[in-house]
Amino acid sequence: MQAQIEILASLQTVDREIREQTGRKQRLLEDLRVTERQIQAKKGEIDALSAAWSEREKLRVEKDRVFQDEGKKAMDKRMRMSRIKNAKELQALQREIELMRLGNGELEEELIKIMQEIDAIRAQIQTKESEMAAMQEEWQKKQDELQVEINGIDAAVSEASTRRQTIASQVTGDLISRYELIFSRRGGTAVVEVAGGICQGCYMNVPPQLWNEIIRNEKVHLCPSCQRILFVKPATE
Ligand SMILES: [Zn+2]
Repeated sequence: MQAQIEILASLQTVDREIREQTGRKQRLLEDLRVTERQIQAKKGEIDALSAAWSEREKLRVEKDRVFQDEGKKAMDKRMRMSRIKNAKELQALQREIELMRLGNGELEEELIKIMQEIDAIRAQIQTKESEMAAMQEEWQKKQDELQVEINGIDAAVSEASTRRQTIASQVTGDLISRYELIFSRRGGTAVVEVAGGICQGCYMNVPPQLWNEIIRNEKVHLCPSCQRILFVKPATE
């Protein structure tokens, strides 16, 4: 039994290696996804600003058309002035022209305000676009670097898996499935040493009776508190 548990212990070393590398790969990919989400968020901000921009631009075109029309009307009225002989009529027309001038002045102010808003939005869009471009460039760089790293991880995992197969083939009976279950449930530690009567997986005392049985080494013993497979290192000479 000791030999079998020693095989499991070396299997565990390889499995931890695979587990560690796989975890590293996942963290690298997650890191990349974080940057992707940031780029998406930035794109969302730009889209919202672009929508605000086109809405403002539509308003500007409308107001501008009214402004041009009113300007033309005022011009027509001013031209009519030269043809009027009647003083009362002339006065009335002058008053009309004055009112139009005031109205157009207000319209012009509104137009200027809208154009300033449009400029401000455009500036914001430009800032965010260059921020996004920088983020995309960084993402691309990160992606290239990660690809190299991930290729290395994949190669290491593939090599370790081959080693694992060789080791696993030496484990007899259902021991391997018991080991695998404990390994996945117990955070990558399925086989632990008992040292000084203490389980090195959970640091609880192993009952003396069990300790004696482990030393006799006739079957697989599990720690009563953490359920891991226990083994005792042979006494050193
Ligand atoms: Zn334990």
